[in-house]
Amino acid sequence: MRYGYQDKLLRIDLNTGTVATEPLSDEMVDNFIGGRGFVAKLLFDELPRGIDPYDPQNMFIAATGPLSGHFLPASGKTHFGTKSPATGGYADSNMGGHFGPALKYAGYDALVLTGRTAEPSVLVIDDDRVEIRPAHDYWGQGALIAETNLKAELGEDFQILTIGPAGEKRVRYACLSHDFGRQAGRSGVGAVLGSKKIKAIAVRGTGSLPVYDIEKAYAKGVEAFEKVAAKPGYTEWTPEGTAGITNWCNEVGAFPTRNFQTSFSEHYEAINGKAILEKLKITDKGCYCCPTPCGKYGRTKTEIGDAYVEGPEYETIALFGGNCELKTIEEVAYANYLCDELGVDTISAGAVISWAVVCLEKGILCLDEIGRPIHFADLETVDYLLGKITRREGIGDLLAEGVKKAAEKVGRGSDAFAIHVKGLEWTGYECRNAPSMMLAYMTADIGAHHARAWVLGHDMAGAWTNVNDLVQSGGTVERQPPAQIRKESADYVIDSQHTRPLFDALGVCRLQLMELGFEVENYAELFALITGTKRSWEEMLRVSERIWNLTRSISAREIQGFGRSWDYPPERFFTEPVASGPNEGYLIPADKLEQLLDWYYEARGWDANGLPMKATLMRLGLGDVAETLAAEGVLLN
Ligand code: SF4
Repeated sequence: MRYGYQDKLLRIDLNTGTVATEPLSDEMVDNFIGGRGFVAKLLFDELPRGIDPYDPQNMFIAATGPLSGHFLPASGKTHFGTKSPATGGYADSNMGGHFGPALKYAGYDALVLTGRTAEPSVLVIDDDRVEIRPAHDYWGQGALIAETNLKAELGEDFQILTIGPAGEKRVRYACLSHDFGRQAGRSGVGAVLGSKKIKAIAVRGTGSLPVYDIEKAYAKGVEAFEKVAAKPGYTEWTPEGTAGITNWCNEVGAFPTRNFQTSFSEHYEAINGKAILEKLKITDKGCYCCPTPCGKYGRTKTEIGDAYVEGPEYETIALFGGNCELKTIEEVAYANYLCDELGVDTISAGAVISWAVVCLEKGILCLDEIGRPIHFADLETVDYLLGKITRREGIGDLLAEGVKKAAEKVGRGSDAFAIHVKGLEWTGYECRNAPSMMLAYMTADIGAHHARAWVLGHDMAGAWTNVNDLVQSGGTVERQPPAQIRKESADYVIDSQHTRPLFDALGVCRLQLMELGFEVENYAELFALITGTKRSWEEMLRVSERIWNLTRSISAREIQGFGRSWDYPPERFFTEPVASGPNEGYLIPADKLEQLLDWYYEARGWDANGLPMKATLMRLGLGDVAETLAAEGVLLN
């Protein structure tokens, strides 16, 4: 008995319709835990090297963790992985809601799809019955509408994952959608599912999970809920959720504004968490088993339409309220709704739209190419471009490629405004006075993503003698010197890159730790009671380090010439100082960024080109990976 897991991997070959199951290997469970670890292990072992992300042989993986679906706080996370259409390298994306627990109750720890169906299809998993059905009218429908209609057809007890029209058209930042507002947004996982002609995956699970010591696990679960509810942040953080950080980011000069031209927005109080509560919110909405429902479900009314929508979360506020400069929370929420229904990542979409607007302003793109005037602070611009992108029509076909590929096609200096790392658009934190956070973005394994390491607090603590004074003063206290470039930044980043993604391997939400300080020892205790295996948090962090080196190795074999140059931020970030706000005039010079990378690579045991050294892989029990890479001509020191 493999407690905590279902000990079953479900494989479906969409070319032939063949369905097969197999037990988990000891190596998978012991060395990679679950979720993100399973994704990385399966991709390294099985992905045919060098294929196009839209090749039918690409893998689409959904993986739960050992804690997914069990009775403990926020155990509803599912991890998705593939070869990224955005970067060409390792890709994963995480989603809350109820899908993962349903998959597990149906009897599976993970699902692997390969191949492509002949016609658009819906995959139905009803316990041990697996069926591939024609998608009929669902193909072409919005992600939210398709979920509504599939629930009406199949029953409310199915948990449904959909793609929108953007996924069908292979927009490189298309997302997966679930539970009317939860997305696996990043890396283009929705585009890969669309390339397989799968519109939706519906899962109903009625089974139970094997637990090593169910009485103690239950008691510990009850205690964990009580501990979370007793945390001071419980009553402070939950009401606004992630949107609650908007004021702070703005006041410390970390709020991306007008395509990252500056880092402070004058209208932030009209688009913050408080505005959501006052103007939009109908109810809180949480994922499976979550005591801190950070989702805010509400209704927005704008001049061009009104809609029910979950959100916006902070990232959507930053990219549409800051970067595209929409001036009201209603407009930001409507942009959020459009992205959700069309099935695109709000972060990448906001980055792409702001790139197009700047390119028109600078004369790099012309009106004929775009089809009509487009502006910052204009919801009609957002509506127009999202429609074009989703249909891959006119300028939309270019923008559907993401900022890196679009800038490569356009040339004419447009890459200066393409804000990304590795081809993945930058998320909601401007970092020209935040060296640790800058390094976190540079080295995140999927591209410029904040959820791998969020270390902005370390930078701000170094830059401002008292951040609270600054926040309470509305940004008017005397400016402090710029943040120092410190060797500890590399350690902060690495520590965070092991801690945060470990939650993605376990299958639980990390926000109870990050926002409320719910102690990590609780997870180690629950892990032991559920799985019957004692592992300290520190031991599990070593697994997380192993996974981190494996995801780097996947990108090293998949991307020609992958290495240090793929870790650089946009040139503007080290040549053009912040234009206004608390960090006006600041930037991190190129030589300091090189120094940060050197420290980081050294601390990781990577060579100067940013590739794991053989000795490092051996230390982490990845000797087979070192051998495979050597045999394939990926040179390791
Ligand atoms: Fe979902 Fe938010 Fe709860 Fe995390 S804190 S499980 S994201 S509702």
